[in-house]
Amino acid sequence: MELTATIPIRKTTHSRISEVDFDNLEFGKYVSDHMLVCDYTNGAWQTPQILPYSNLSLAPSALALHYGQTVFEGMKAFRMDDGRINIFRMERHYERFVRSLERMCMQVPPKEIFVEGLLQLIGLDKAWVPSRPGSALYLRPFVIASEARFGVKISDEYRFIIFTGPVPSLYDQPIKVKVETNYIRAAKGGTGFAKCGGNYGGAYYPTRQARMEGYDQVLWTDAKENKFIEESGMMNVMFVINDTLVTPPLSDSILDGITRDSLLTLAREVGYKTEERPVSVAELEKAIGDGTLTEAFGAGTAAVVAPIKTININGIDMQLPEYGPGNLLYKLKHGLELIRSGQEPDRHEWNFVL
Ligand SMILES: *Cc1c(COP(=O)(O)O)cnc(C)c1O
Repeated sequence: MELTATIPIRKTTHSRISEVDFDNLEFGKYVSDHMLVCDYTNGAWQTPQILPYSNLSLAPSALALHYGQTVFEGMKAFRMDDGRINIFRMERHYERFVRSLERMCMQVPPKEIFVEGLLQLIGLDKAWVPSRPGSALYLRPFVIASEARFGVKISDEYRFIIFTGPVPSLYDQPIKVKVETNYIRAAKGGTGFAKCGGNYGGAYYPTRQARMEGYDQVLWTDAKENKFIEESGMMNVMFVINDTLVTPPLSDSILDGITRDSLLTLAREVGYKTEERPVSVAELEKAIGDGTLTEAFGAGTAAVVAPIKTININGIDMQLPEYGPGNLLYKLKHGLELIRSGQEPDRHEWNFVL
């Protein structure tokens, strides 16, 4: 890959890092000192810049604010045992970013700007990469339609931004989920596979409903029949049924999770059978009832794995067996940590080491 010449940097004169309590990180609370900004105007991506993190100046008529042309990625950089920093599966994230942007008719930032921007940004703010096990520097690249024009149209101008922030590990406690058969997240032919803003705003209402009923997340079902499991909140969902790791197959209504792919790969490596196939609500009910389902968990960058202890099906809470260190989900999570920290060889070239 041809890397662009170094990106111009304007450094902050007031680092905020002393305000961060690295022993008590909260997800989404802290942002690092700098951000990358690159505009698409006059039919071309302009020179990117690294600037102090600050508010944007945007026209109230900017198209992103009205019609939802916004796309993001969520990825992480980890502190390795030897002190170096790696970005996990950067290329895979870029490829998905491209697919999301294309679905939303948005301009795609060149890979060189994405890669070089991340490297320089993380290099500059490397003191923000936390070192506690499970913690990471969260990386948030995104593009918004910035053209000032209030008629419904595909924007001719875009702004690509990357900011970062230290985050702790999430969901240590097993969660309760509710199978949702009234509302849906995504439908065939829709945008479910894309990380575009509207998918998340649309999920708030049913999720809040589930929270008020005492659940942490919803288990989405398919839009056509509400019979098949799709995802768990903003995570892919995986089950261990009859000692096989089972997860719904990718489609245009399921997001192609990189954690999902990594866990499937690791499971196969340790000799586990894996199946990517439809999982019906009826199968779930039966397999919990007869004890053949031993694990259920969400999989995503933020939490890595989120063990599920209760699944509400048609108004009935079904309890799953308790989790312990011997469970596959913890073995897979640990396997991933060994690779990210450099304690085990990076067999699949997942780490991009700075
Ligand atoms: C981001 C996301 C995931 C998880 O993807 P990862 O690449 O593993 O972080 C799963 N489902 C949805 C809806 C998502 O937005």
